Amino acid sequence: MTLPASAVPPLVPFDLPLTVRFRGITRRRGVLVRGPAGWGEWSPFAEYVAPEIDSWWRATREAAVEGFPAPVRDRVPVNVTIPAVGPADAHARAAASGCGTAKIKVADHPGSFAEDLARVEAVRDALGPAGRLRVDVNGRWTVDEAVPRLRVLARFGLEYAEQPCATVEELADLRRRLARAGVDVPVAADESIRRSGDPERVVALEAADVAVLKVQPLGGVRACLWLAERLGLPVVVSSALETSVGIAAGVALAAALPELPYACGLNTVPLLAEDVAADPLVAVDGAIAVRPVRLRPVAEWDAGDAAADAWRRRWLTMEEKPTW
Ligand SMILES: [Mg+2]
Repeated sequence: MTLPASAVPPLVPFDLPLTVRFRGITRRRGVLVRGPAGWGEWSPFAEYVAPEIDSWWRATREAAVEGFPAPVRDRVPVNVTIPAVGPADAHARAAASGCGTAKIKVADHPGSFAEDLARVEAVRDALGPAGRLRVDVNGRWTVDEAVPRLRVLARFGLEYAEQPCATVEELADLRRRLARAGVDVPVAADESIRRSGDPERVVALEAADVAVLKVQPLGGVRACLWLAERLGLPVVVSSALETSVGIAAGVALAAALPELPYACGLNTVPLLAEDVAADPLVAVDGAIAVRPVRLRPVAEWDAGDAAADAWRRRWLTMEEKPTW
């Protein structure tokens, strides 16, 4: 059934440049919507379709209509995210971040391992021996590639490797092979949690040591808290490269989790050249404060009627359209 356009909530589009190409995009697009509890962000990436975008909307609606559960901490430690840049740039970003933990993107393109290695080495140098390093492979290695590469990277001391291979079965196989080879690199599952349709298989197959949770893809803060309890793994909360409004939902999750043993991947607003917030949710001394976000005037970031129309059409493609 197609709903009349009047049933679509009032979506205000944004279209913001990034400072650097990240996960293949140079602009971040989405909408904000204001409800009784405040602003919510809906920003599924362009290639995502229903029903996957439906869970992103559940998170948006939660933020705007219900608000967030009570926090148990008032600051959330975060990592600096190092994109697939050269070693000098990587060193400078890590050194300037004020963060004690860095997440380094690797496997950006085929044949990149020598560059990956130079980037990880530069970040280790910048953060010193006490710094914590993790790599994010975005599922791009086979198990046969991952074992020797993680053995080499382990020299730099990794707290974990995020989604080194694509499937849950491969992650499980990799964990067994790393253990047999004496390579001490824990495995974190990211895409296997949020895109597989069955996050609990990660636990059933013993495929990961750490679970990466993202609020929009997983349907909201409460849905993530419930999932974290079922998984029983340590959780790292990460962003989907949102504006400060979407980041506030990630911060709310990280602030509400009973335990938070790792720095979170929520300090991604600095990757946006502009934000919708007057007081962007960025890290100070390696942590983001749990606080409300104050927006800039809407006219300063509203991407206009054509963009709003396109987002309304996309909203109408959802399978579930919860009452606003
Ligand atoms: Mg990831």
